Amino acid sequence: MKLAEDPHRRLNVLTNEWVVVSPHRATRPWQGEVATLQTIPEPVYDPSCYLCPGNERAGGVLNPQYTSTFVFENDFAALKPNMARESLDVDNAGLLIAETEPGICRVICFSPRHDLTLATMSVDEIEPVVHTWVGQFRELAGLEAINHVQIFENRGAMMGASNPHPHCQIWATASIPDAPSKELATQSNYFQKHRRCLLCDYVELESKQNVRVVAENEAFIALVPFWAIWPFELLISSRRHLKDMPELTPQESRSLAEILQKVTSTYDKVFGVPFPYSMGFHQAPTDGPPHPEWHFHAHFYPPLLRSATIRKFMVGFEMLGTPQRDITPEIAADRLRALAATRR
Ligand SMILES: [Zn+2]
Ligand SMILES: [Zn+2]
Ligand SMILES: [Zn+2]
Repeated sequence: MKLAEDPHRRLNVLTNEWVVVSPHRATRPWQGEVATLQTIPEPVYDPSCYLCPGNERAGGVLNPQYTSTFVFENDFAALKPNMARESLDVDNAGLLIAETEPGICRVICFSPRHDLTLATMSVDEIEPVVHTWVGQFRELAGLEAINHVQIFENRGAMMGASNPHPHCQIWATASIPDAPSKELATQSNYFQKHRRCLLCDYVELESKQNVRVVAENEAFIALVPFWAIWPFELLISSRRHLKDMPELTPQESRSLAEILQKVTSTYDKVFGVPFPYSMGFHQAPTDGPPHPEWHFHAHFYPPLLRSATIRKFMVGFEMLGTPQRDITPEIAADRLRALAATRR
């Protein structure tokens, strides 16, 4: 089988889901949207932004004059913390099933500066963000009712981010959400079968092949995973086997800030615009067991495909069957690696 030419499907060993790859289609003529994108620089401070220092949020709360990172409970939280765990199964038929989902939703501003992004912040400025993530994870993980802590960032209007001010969200939940549940199952199976960690072995193999690696430093590696669905999807993995952020050494925190800066600034070079994405960290569930199988990593899912405005849609066969991509993960990695090597 020729991975660069033949239509094939690849298995995502972290989720046990497949992706169809159609390399022969990557050259077909494009007849759709060709609009160009105008980007207007953001101001350093926006009086109408509810995340800027000193400004008013929903319900009349004033933000402090914060100077580094700033954390608050989401004013429009999707989940509520103080709910009893109850489940519902109408007529015990196993068909209409529901349960309460207690949870905590917080917002973390990365910087008081409205105009910055991870891509334009310095490593010195991103490091306190990493420390804030560590502190938040530790605090939420310690709560009896919380079994999983999801830290994620939606960047860009295309990804539904309602505000350009650099920020992320935390949703800490009583249940383990679907994506990490699938990864828990695959990592546990691999660990039981081989007595080794799936991602430790995968990262070692990717390092050896050196085909899909985009950037690396002492503690982290960023690569287009073999099974990537999104055109420029990236997986960032720690080199050392650690299960969550509180296990990071000070040097590893610095390395994480460095690779995040590298990856996001590389993304902005792909089409010469601030690159939209959803990213998030997958850390071991906080449900009690030690989780020796779990390996700390982050996913970046950017939607852009061919230009600043042409995005990939998950429609048709992808919605009803299996996700599919044309440009191979290897070609995407070549392009990102070349851009990562150029100066800012
Ligand atoms: Zn702002
Ligand atoms: Zn590992
Ligand atoms: Zn993951």
